Amino acid sequence: MQVDHDAPVVFLHDIHRQYRQGETTLTILSGAKLALWAGQSVALVAPSGTGKSTLLHIAGLLEQPDSGEVYVNGAPTSTLSDAERTQIRRTDIGFVYQSHRLLPEFSALENVMLPQMIRGLSRKETVQRSREILAYLGLSERVTHRPAELSGGEQQRVAIARAVANAPRVLFADEPTGNLDPHTAAHVFNALMQLVRATQVAMLIATHNMELANMMDRRVSLADGQVVELD
Ligand code: ADP
Ligand code: MG
Repeated sequence: MQVDHDAPVVFLHDIHRQYRQGETTLTILSGAKLALWAGQSVALVAPSGTGKSTLLHIAGLLEQPDSGEVYVNGAPTSTLSDAERTQIRRTDIGFVYQSHRLLPEFSALENVMLPQMIRGLSRKETVQRSREILAYLGLSERVTHRPAELSGGEQQRVAIARAVANAPRVLFADEPTGNLDPHTAAHVFNALMQLVRATQVAMLIATHNMELANMMDRRVSLADGQVVELD
């Protein structure tokens, strides 16, 4: 795909999303608009149930809006085939969830290797890159551990390593520190901030933690289905 470096990495334009709930219709997003730029970290701070996960899933091409357009690297995505969207997700988009979602039967190293193997990199290259990323996140001594043998903070750092393994241009994190104690949350958060600075990835983090949000470049919220800037 052609990359337009003057365009936002991701641009959400006039996004609408409703859910049918029995007899009623829930309007979650109603004309939402948001630009995410390379090297900028954005906190999405809004109460539970307002649509943070919905917005992240739409921006991450995991879910389609009812209407509106998601541009990635300046190019519209609504007319792409499922295969083409999957390809963009593999190469340009990283996702971190509240629970780590690592594969329990595989080691930390193998969990980080998998997305690269799927992408078709050689095993040798994949092992080397995965070790480097895990070392960068302070996990050199944990590469052979399975998820159950890691602490909560370590599990999340492996999940972050997996999300950035294919050097995405944008990283979405959905309450990534929500299950962690404050000290561990700060540690995981710092790892994310370090990655933004080192790799110039664009980042959108949904969080309830205002202290962490205040350390990011920009803060937005959701109100009446629209994205509003805070500050
Ligand atoms: P948040 O992440 O801010 O807590 P969500 O995006 O998960 O909010 O959900 C927003 C609202 O949409 C919630 O009221 C939720 O119940 C509803 N919702 C989310 N996904 C679905 C779905 N697949 N079907 C029906 N309702 C949904
Ligand atoms: Mg959510």
